[in-house]
Amino acid sequence: MSQPSYELLPGAGESPVILHVPHSARTIPADVRAGIELDDAALERELDHITDAHTAELAEAAAERAGVTPWRFVNRLSRLVVDPERFPDEREEMLAVGMGAVYTRTTHRDVLRQEGVDPGPLVARYFRPYARAMTEAVAGRLAATGRAVVIDVHSYPSRALPYELHGAGPRPPVCLGTDRFHTPAGLAEAARKAFAGCGETGLDSPFSGTYVPLEFYGTDARVGALMVEIRRDLYMAEPGGPAGPGVDRLATALAGLVDSVGR
Ligand SMILES: [Zn+2]
Repeated sequence: MSQPSYELLPGAGESPVILHVPHSARTIPADVRAGIELDDAALERELDHITDAHTAELAEAAAERAGVTPWRFVNRLSRLVVDPERFPDEREEMLAVGMGAVYTRTTHRDVLRQEGVDPGPLVARYFRPYARAMTEAVAGRLAATGRAVVIDVHSYPSRALPYELHGAGPRPPVCLGTDRFHTPAGLAEAARKAFAGCGETGLDSPFSGTYVPLEFYGTDARVGALMVEIRRDLYMAEPGGPAGPGVDRLATALAGLVDSVGR
């Protein structure tokens, strides 16, 4: 494979912060593409809906503006290869709509992969190495600074897609996903303040929870985590269009969050 599946982009040695960007890329290796049932036009449409477009660039701009440079962990493959944020087993509620670690359904509930396809090979080749690398990235911050703060950088469509399990709830400009164990009140509050200039901030609707590598999940309170879900109409043309001027304000807000939790 010529191109890496993911990348850890180093930040300052003293920074505990990792900006995690799992859903920004559209790249699908040819052999994985062969297992997807959509024709090329339908696949492009699906990528327009499912990809958190421009979030890698947003994280990069935020990293450049931050007083202390955060680390970045960026998925360079599409979530249609594997979704690194899902549980790889029955714990995953999205399995009910064909969107566990290896999706079998599209955002519009059409067939993406054949029903009953064995997710094992994709999980072994892409999901597990990603999870291991992210675990090591968090362990690295813990070793260097005594703590880690994972800020998950996502975006979501302004109108609910058919696959969403909680699509009836509020869709604020900025949705913060929290975890009872890993998101201290101060972390969510810091995000609320940092994004105040971008519009209203809501908690855990329409998407909830946040990513923590399983090795630390629910056991190591030194690992803080928060998901930032930005409504796409704040910064881009939906679906799948170019980024607009909104990116600038969001990058400054995200840099502000990095600085307020990173010192
Ligand atoms: Zn996402």
